[in-house]
Amino acid sequence: MKVVIVGAGYVGLVTGLGLAKLGHQIWFLDIDEKKISLLKKGKLPFREPGLTKLLKEARRENKVYFSSSYRETVPQGEGWLICVGTPSAADGSCNLDFVLGAVREVIRWAPEKGFLVIKSTVDPLRVGEIEELVGERLRLSFVPEFLSEGRAVKDFFSPFRLVFGVKDEVSLSWLKRLYRKIKGERIICSPYEAVLIKCVSNIFLATKISFVNLWALFCGRVGADINQVIKGVGLDPRIGDKFLAAGLGFGGSCFPKDLRAACVYFSQVGIRNCFLKEVLQINQMMVEWVVEKIKKWQKKKIAVWGATFKPHTDDLRESQALVLVERLSQLKLREIRVCDPAADPEQLRRYPKVKFFRDPYQSVEGMEVIVLATEWEIFGQVDFKKVASLMEEKTLIDGRVGFKLWDKERLIRLGFDYWAIGEEKKMCYTDKNEQ
Ligand code: NAD
Repeated sequence: MKVVIVGAGYVGLVTGLGLAKLGHQIWFLDIDEKKISLLKKGKLPFREPGLTKLLKEARRENKVYFSSSYRETVPQGEGWLICVGTPSAADGSCNLDFVLGAVREVIRWAPEKGFLVIKSTVDPLRVGEIEELVGERLRLSFVPEFLSEGRAVKDFFSPFRLVFGVKDEVSLSWLKRLYRKIKGERIICSPYEAVLIKCVSNIFLATKISFVNLWALFCGRVGADINQVIKGVGLDPRIGDKFLAAGLGFGGSCFPKDLRAACVYFSQVGIRNCFLKEVLQINQMMVEWVVEKIKKWQKKKIAVWGATFKPHTDDLRESQALVLVERLSQLKLREIRVCDPAADPEQLRRYPKVKFFRDPYQSVEGMEVIVLATEWEIFGQVDFKKVASLMEEKTLIDGRVGFKLWDKERLIRLGFDYWAIGEEKKMCYTDKNEQ
């Protein structure tokens, strides 16, 4: 099948290269000419495990084309998948300008008939507006994307579900053909329901993180270990332990923006909603907990381990590690260092006080505190004896305690002053050491 992917970002490239691997012919269309010229040279504009291999194969087999021209590209396809960004508007709502702009251009250049598929995460209250814009000529459907950066290629080939938000049988059978080689449950529903499945999923995941983080703060006050609590809680199959890792909170290009947008949707339909606002507030509280500790201890030389919003990506969008760096930059500190295995140091230029390191050991030389801000495996595999010998003072803040990268008891034995996020009392660790 011949498909045009509009927007060659994380969603567009993973979807398009995945579809090419399944045998389809793909045209990528992006207004960012720099991105297109990189792709034409066989280079990815970002890091995503497994994607370089797909790009290489697809280019070798002449399955993919790249362009910035709607006029040239749109007529090549029988279907157009809209994968452009939907950033936050000033009031927190979902900005649909890119989606509407892309849809208008596809309509302008499309042949008589074809299939227009919205994969971008859109405002459920504006589904009708998109439907009106498209009208009767093209067949419109909503197939939201659920990939998770860092494991996006895996998610494409083995999705938890495929959601087809359709209004007619012809679109449905086209989508079924497009994805026929992908196994997994199909949810066939209305466009509204499809958009809501995406919205509710993201918000539920973010809510779980804030829920466990609120309890992490509580556990810290009473001297309990949040990981022990979650271990016990998660054994109840009605609850489970997935996505209940305490830490600095959630970031990335989706959860914070989708939550902000949902707060607006609720007020637009007149339903009182303190709940989702609180999910965002708790996320900020986690960063503030670290900032307050550093202020209280009067520490002046801080190394932040991790900059990306999660491991296995170079994506820095709305990263909690960077929110922390921003807050630390506002304090009167002597030195702030950031260490990350994948982040582009150029993107940290906006923090002139911050020094960037790839090597964890170099990043801690002469420092007083290390904050674990992103759970990259490498930060659990370092030689802590060496780290201890390099630091001026040996204080650690485990900002990703739920991921269990650091063995607190061993670190305490090595002479570190270890603090899990939220921890105010050291009761349990001391007790365990004395046993
Ligand atoms: P992105 O910013 O990585 O990519 C979007 C691309 O669209 C950019 O390359 C941009 O240049 C291009 N673009 C913008 N306007 C255009 C236009 N009019 N015509 C052609 N190209 C245009 O975004 P992303 O992370 O891939 O996200 C895309 C959508 O998918 C968003 O709605 C997002 O919420 C959703 N989503 C993202 C993820 C994720 O993990 N990144 C997961 C699921 C869903």
